Amino acid sequence: MSAASIRNAMTIDVEDYFQVSAFAPYIPRESWASRVCRVESNIDRILALLDEKEVKATFFTLGWIAERHAGMVRRIVAGGHELASHGWGHQRVTDQASHEFREDVVRSKALLEDIGGQAVLGYRAPSFSIGRHNLWALDVLEESGYRYSSSIYPIRHDHYGMPEAPRFPYHPRPQHGLLEVPITTLQLFQRNFPAGGGGYFRLWPYPVSRWLLQRLNHREGRSAIFYFHPWEIDPGQPRQPGIGMKTRFRHYYNLDRMEGRIRALTRDFQWGRMDRIFLEGSA
Ligand SMILES: [Zn+2]
Repeated sequence: MSAASIRNAMTIDVEDYFQVSAFAPYIPRESWASRVCRVESNIDRILALLDEKEVKATFFTLGWIAERHAGMVRRIVAGGHELASHGWGHQRVTDQASHEFREDVVRSKALLEDIGGQAVLGYRAPSFSIGRHNLWALDVLEESGYRYSSSIYPIRHDHYGMPEAPRFPYHPRPQHGLLEVPITTLQLFQRNFPAGGGGYFRLWPYPVSRWLLQRLNHREGRSAIFYFHPWEIDPGQPRQPGIGMKTRFRHYYNLDRMEGRIRALTRDFQWGRMDRIFLEGSA
């Protein structure tokens, strides 16, 4: 396959600005229901942006969001996109016992399938919270009917990561078929650098990110897995008081540039849904 025809996976983690893990110490879960939601208008902008280049993507959606924005979920599916699960209420897997995790992933899958009317095959853990200490979660996903996960990030980071994990799709449990599809990293100076979105994509100038992805496509001949959040294209979101400088910087930096950069990605690369790129032919 020539590099120009390599399809990369475009993915969106569907959650609102007050649900990010870094804000959890400042925003009590009980207050979520009384906050002004901005996810729906942001998702509609994303759907319009993807339509400009007829890009199909995968939307890892929280059950909490789907329950309150069923019409939005139906518009995602009607647009030809893949609906996948981001769990119910953005509870990190590292904070859950196995029976709690099971309930979380079963409940969110059932609701999304109910609203979307299509099978939900994929799961992405909140804050990439599956790693070497809780690989049992992959067995729970398999038993709950998921076919792939995108939850183990092979980098070193202060909040998550399993740097020794493989960089490309693999079967982490030899006893079953669940595929792990990690967010894209690039190996430079014997370290894995995040190259598939997140805060770094907003931090670095766009040509750096483009170079990283081109290198992956051309030199390694691999599909990239890119992710972003609806709140990242929303500079008008309410500012959270009381948070530390590092969290503030990570959350708010370059929000006004993000939409243009996502548009540039849709222009510079080929994109598709996770299930079509990684599952087809593997059944
Ligand atoms: Zn998330």
